[in-house]
Amino acid sequence: EAKAKGRNTFHFYSQELNAAANERLHIENELRQAIKSQQFSLQYQPQIDSRSGKIVGYEALIRWNHPTEGGIPPTKFIPIAEATGLIVEIGTWVLKEACRFSSVLKSKGYTADISINLSARQFKDANLIETISHTLDEVGLPPSMLHLELTESMLMGDVEAAIEQLKEMKKLGVSLSIDDFGTGYSSLSYLKRFPVDVLKVDRSFVKDIPEDSNDMEITAAIIAMAQKLSMKVVAEGVETAEQVAFLQRNNCHIVQGYYYSAPLTEQQVFAQEPSIMRVAGN
Ligand code: C2E
Ligand code: MG
Ligand code: MG
Ligand code: MG
Repeated sequence: EAKAKGRNTFHFYSQELNAAANERLHIENELRQAIKSQQFSLQYQPQIDSRSGKIVGYEALIRWNHPTEGGIPPTKFIPIAEATGLIVEIGTWVLKEACRFSSVLKSKGYTADISINLSARQFKDANLIETISHTLDEVGLPPSMLHLELTESMLMGDVEAAIEQLKEMKKLGVSLSIDDFGTGYSSLSYLKRFPVDVLKVDRSFVKDIPEDSNDMEITAAIIAMAQKLSMKVVAEGVETAEQVAFLQRNNCHIVQGYYYSAPLTEQQVFAQEPSIMRVAGN
């Protein structure tokens, strides 16, 4: 009985595995094509100082518009690009494109700080420093305007190697952020050794404010800790006026989320008055 059941379960499981493996292989092949035929674009989500309603920068977020399958979300294809190594080429394109956008904004006199997401593979890539410095030179962007977002899991593997790489990045003059903070397992004793400028509080802590009092405690504690470590704090996924008010009361003024704006196309950024989004409470 048990044996037969086991075999069936295995059969079922392996079918599922097969389907997953096939989909992966399919996406991998399509990704190679996507790089060649320029199916990627970037959207830019404003980051706002909630005290003034002013945009202080943008986060670049990749979009894949597949010719027959339509939009494929980054949460679906980035892990596959990462596993296959294709992310290095895609990430280099993202870096270039985002810096180009930023320099166009700057030339129009607008706020132009730009954040980009780095993947684990890129962070470990021996050419990363060279790629960043080459791109900044080519585009003519001041390094301080470029913010690179990393995650805790990328830093916690080989901590000493990670610290060395972060130091090399800092030497270029760029700013470093820890994305999705609170969802990984970074040790607080290491956190103070990382030369990081910004903590981004993950959306999972923000989304149930003000209903979830634990999340409010955690968010307040992350903000306080960041400030003790002289880091700036950005809250992600801010969707309501109540959340903005809570964050303001707790000294986190830079926010990003649908309350102010979804990610925008480059045309949308230029079409709107790009300095003032909305003053909190309005
Ligand atoms: P992330 O870096 O944490 O980006 C924030 C995600 O939250 C984005 O999803 C954004 O569209 C979404 N978001 C922003 N505000 C709100 C809000 O108020 N409510 C909700 N529900 N969501 C909000 P997106 O664009 O689908 O990106 C997902 C993840 O994919 C990113 O998370 C990042 O980890 C990764 N990613 C995106 N672009 C790139 C890229 O160019 N390179 C790499 N390596 N990863 C990327
Ligand atoms: Mg990010
Ligand atoms: Mg994030
Ligand atoms: Mg997040």
